[in-house]
Amino acid sequence: MENVIILGSGPAGLTAALYIARANLEPLVITGNELGGQIATTTEVENFPGFPNGLTGPELYDQMQRQAERFGARFEIDEVVQVDFTQQPFKVTTHSKTFEARSVIVATGATPRKLEVPGEKELTGRGVSYCATCDGFFFRDKEIMVVGGGDSALQEGLFLTKFGKRVRVVHRRDSLRAGPALQDRARRNEKMSFIWDTAVEAVEGNGAVEAVQLKNLKTGEVHREPVSGLFIYIGHVPNSWLYKGQLDMDEEGYLIVDPYLHTNIPGVFAAGEIHDKRFRQAIVSAGFGCMAAMEAEKYLAALE
Ligand code: NAP
Repeated sequence: MENVIILGSGPAGLTAALYIARANLEPLVITGNELGGQIATTTEVENFPGFPNGLTGPELYDQMQRQAERFGARFEIDEVVQVDFTQQPFKVTTHSKTFEARSVIVATGATPRKLEVPGEKELTGRGVSYCATCDGFFFRDKEIMVVGGGDSALQEGLFLTKFGKRVRVVHRRDSLRAGPALQDRARRNEKMSFIWDTAVEAVEGNGAVEAVQLKNLKTGEVHREPVSGLFIYIGHVPNSWLYKGQLDMDEEGYLIVDPYLHTNIPGVFAAGEIHDKRFRQAIVSAGFGCMAAMEAEKYLAALE
């Protein structure tokens, strides 16, 4: 019987592991398929406090993991396929075994929605990005394209105008979903422009993004447009399907938690982008991991 099982190995899960380990509760982290979460796919992390010279996403993951291990956290590199939170002890089943736990911290995060077009996967990290804060810096004076018509596309697009020669927003319709204030700012920014009723059909490049194939959805016309950076903001998908029917979630699948990160099931806590759709920063997720761990610790103490 485990004291605490932590699902997910991004900054939220690893910080929860560190705090639970330092409370001598020997947490078990089930890492999931994406070791280190979204941050581990980032080439350069320059906004995580404490690293004045920056570091790579995988380096940050490695350091956080080793810090948690130093105090007794254990890591199971596997993917959870089923959970049972309906009764104590909770059950967590991976591809290879079933674990039992008195409490669980769910930190399985969210995944940026993909366009699912040719070239996108191969050129991710080589010009295709889902994080302007992480990668914008690399596109100084370059041609940048943003995909999407929501608040994220405009907010991140505006941020990218600090770097790019110009930022063109490609949207599949002719009106934006984003709020009016952001729309005004975007329209007033002279580096920003829009390509309406258009879909990205393919991303091209040899080792780095060189161009995209754009299709006008009204006329059907397809043409090639040279770009260096393609930032995709078409929403996120929380990794919460495992908890359907057990943990309360909103219509988009984000878990619903109280201010102390308790889910609807006592003893099950949530931390990071599985519930936070607003901030989406590694440092914020790490903070949530700390909070969830402290609450789990209190919960276990009360069980004694
Ligand atoms: P969102 O509001 O869901 O917008 C996603 C955009 O991507 C939509 O314009 C959508 O087009 C488009 N899209 C979806 N799937 C697509 C596909 N397969 N191909 C091409 N385009 C596609 O997502 P978000 O912008 O990430 O915002 C998420 C939430 O966070 C929202 O509630 C938002 O208000 C909030 N947020 C707020 C702020 C702020 O207040 N400053 C900043 C960021 C996010 P359609 O419009 O045609 O559906």
